[in-house]
Amino acid sequence: MNPTTGPSHFIRDIILEDLKTNKFGGRVHTRFPPEPNGYLHIGHAKSICLNFGLAKEFGGKTNLRFDDTNPEKEETEYVDSIMETVRWLGFDWEDRLFYASDYFGQLYDWALQLIRSGKAYVCDLTAEEMRKYRGTLTEPGKESPYRNRSVEENLDLFQRMKAGEFADGSRTLRAKIDMASPNLNMRDPVMYRILHAEHHRTGNEWCIYPMYDFAHGESDSIERITHSICTLEFEDHRPLYDWYVEQLGIYHPQQIEFDRLNLTYTLLSKRKLLTLVQEGRVNGWDDPRMPTLAGIKRRGYTPEAIRNFCGAIGVSKTNGIIELGLLEHHVREDLNKRAARVMAVIRPLKVVIDNYPEGLVEEMEAVNNPEDASAGTRKVPFSGVLYIEQEDFREDPPKQYYRLSPGREVRLRYGYFITCTSVVKNDQGEVVEVHCTYDPATKGGNAPDGRKVKSTIHWVSAAHAIDAEIRLYDNLFTRENPNETAEGQDFTANLNPNSLEILRGAKLEPSLATPPVGERYQFERLGYFCVDPDSTPGHPVFNRTLALRDTWAKIEKKEKGNPARP
Ligand code: ATP
Ligand code: MG
Repeated sequence: MNPTTGPSHFIRDIILEDLKTNKFGGRVHTRFPPEPNGYLHIGHAKSICLNFGLAKEFGGKTNLRFDDTNPEKEETEYVDSIMETVRWLGFDWEDRLFYASDYFGQLYDWALQLIRSGKAYVCDLTAEEMRKYRGTLTEPGKESPYRNRSVEENLDLFQRMKAGEFADGSRTLRAKIDMASPNLNMRDPVMYRILHAEHHRTGNEWCIYPMYDFAHGESDSIERITHSICTLEFEDHRPLYDWYVEQLGIYHPQQIEFDRLNLTYTLLSKRKLLTLVQEGRVNGWDDPRMPTLAGIKRRGYTPEAIRNFCGAIGVSKTNGIIELGLLEHHVREDLNKRAARVMAVIRPLKVVIDNYPEGLVEEMEAVNNPEDASAGTRKVPFSGVLYIEQEDFREDPPKQYYRLSPGREVRLRYGYFITCTSVVKNDQGEVVEVHCTYDPATKGGNAPDGRKVKSTIHWVSAAHAIDAEIRLYDNLFTRENPNETAEGQDFTANLNPNSLEILRGAKLEPSLATPPVGERYQFERLGYFCVDPDSTPGHPVFNRTLALRDTWAKIEKKEKGNPARP
């Protein structure tokens, strides 16, 4: 074990200290405890990287535990997707897959133990009454009239709760702690509720279900977790976590809280993400606009980029908000290293080279990845009719626009210099075809007489082009904080109506006829694109992962935009 491998932060320092003092016999054993009520999102990635990363660094173990104590919202579909996602991120729980529901029997026995020792009681207050008795942050609560039932009565009632004699919500089992505690979590919290609901694993065996706080620490204890790492909102629950394990006299893990990930333009709440799915605002949990890891994967983000991002943001004791741009930066950085370069035209404009020999096809040699010499080269067919990007031609070029325009000479990447001689327009006056001449002496991209061109554009040979569908994505929300809304509105009011644009007539170089689903490419000069599972042989569908930084768009924006801005 080398204590200098991982990024330094306070949780790592706690573990280092515990190893020094031998607090847990030199063990590091963490867990990742998702509730299977939705798909994992980028916030969960932070927790996964932290839990699995720390254990790995210190030669420890990490359990995957489904916190499935809430039968009404949980589904097997979520369980499956969560397992797939954790593996995709590059982590392995080996044979340590657990469910809180595995412990329902043990938890029930422990509840009986607390009743016998006078630390728990059956309460008949309704949810509404309980809220009233609870008090507020400034006022103490009031004791329940059922608080002083005898042990015998409590045992009898609790067993009958389990046997199904009572209706949902009619009774609860509560811990007997302190109704005057300044910490509201300690004011006789509910341990069990009655719910006649079918559970995804235990079926109808139970009609009482433990609350999160009672189940969580006890599950940690059963699994002999050393460091139970959770987000800051559980800081005020830690006294209760500690109280339960102390009262039961069982093995005591250490709960440690860290800041949850918040990202600009992004919602990280399974409940709200579920709303988007259910209301059809997105095309399912794995829609590439979603911050779910399934969506992010489909979009083309790599697990390496996500892990690098999670390492870079670190952990702290105060909640903040991270720029979405930082995540995108790590994705671009990783894809730049690994994505093969190809030529694709997503908004095609036809170019006819009038002096190119009729019927001639040449094979141009193209570099697969300038960042990786071992990726080699490939041949791309060149002919007298090509497609270029519509935005690479302007009939009336503005200042600083150096791409193709009438009379202007540019370089075709891996090809020749061409000069625009005329245009063909449709009835609406739009340019639909550009005519050019080429200089045969410039093959490979340089002029023997040393003359220069100011721009290099990409192209695809029309006769050889593969037709493709391209899906362009923008932020799902228009506001940095999607939860910020006018009165009477909810977060859906901040949805970006232009978050998806579909281009159906894209033209790709022929090497892309049937690319493997999930494969990532850099379309030269356009950005990173990933093959979508909706692809069919000969008709690929690509998701734009991210655009490259477009310098022209920036110049244009600046000029049109806020000239008065200092
Ligand atoms: P959500 O609010 O999205 O439903 P949750 O906390 O209820 O999230 P769980 O399934 O209970 O979701 O979370 C599993 C683990 O992931 C927990 O330890 C939780 O603290 C952690 N986690 C959830 N969201 C984030 C986040 N945004 N940043 C960091 N960790 C998170
Ligand atoms: Mg939760």
